[in-house]
Amino acid sequence: MPDRKFFVGGNWKMNGDKKSIDEIVAFLSKGPISANVEVVVAPPYCYLQYSREKLPSNIQVAAQNCYKEKEGAFTGEISPYMIKDVGGTWVITGHSERRHVIGETDEFIAQKTKFALEAGLGVIPCVGEKLEEREANQTLDVINRQMKALADKITDWSRVVIAYEPVWAIGTGKTASPEQAQEVHEKIREWLRKTVSADVADRTRIIYGGSVKGSNAAELAKKPDIDGFLVGGASLKPEFLEIVNAQG
Ligand code: PGA
Repeated sequence: MPDRKFFVGGNWKMNGDKKSIDEIVAFLSKGPISANVEVVVAPPYCYLQYSREKLPSNIQVAAQNCYKEKEGAFTGEISPYMIKDVGGTWVITGHSERRHVIGETDEFIAQKTKFALEAGLGVIPCVGEKLEEREANQTLDVINRQMKALADKITDWSRVVIAYEPVWAIGTGKTASPEQAQEVHEKIREWLRKTVSADVADRTRIIYGGSVKGSNAAELAKKPDIDGFLVGGASLKPEFLEIVNAQG
């Protein structure tokens, strides 16, 4: 059995303030958090350092995005080196809100992913289809296209965790069924096996995101190719602990 440690990310998106972060830190500090799970939370940039200083050491900190250069005249952007400097160890790239609200392209997302890996961060690139793409039977075409852009630039997969996040399931309360999620996760793993290598396919964690809750996490976690979760709304609540411990 390949060793794929269960991985749960909490994507706080553009939510919170110091007071609400203190509340999250309180329930995360209380736990329990299984030692068999890697837990990462992604606060807004301006709270990265604050969160790092307050959180217990078994919880890592991620940024929600980054830029593809080290430094320079890029007003409003943040370098992976800055994320590291304030104690962040991961970054999310290509979240569907970056792709579809802000307009980031496959190529740009792949460039950032590559640069963040070179800078020494772990990266959580997100892929996923929109509702109309699923209904037009284009789910795998879209995911393979997004994966190809990434695979063209990634040389070391050991610090990559792929998040499959169907856009229709994000923040909508409509979770993909365990079968729907497993089907796509298995296809992503097959794609990695064919395109990259058997070793990368076996070792790379593929996590699911989209309306994951305390009540549905355990069923999803039973599926063989679901190696964890990327959680939005529920990561702001004590319910997040149920998701973190969903593997039992
Ligand atoms: P959600 O968001 O859990 O609120 O659906 C998931 C995500 O966007 O990562």
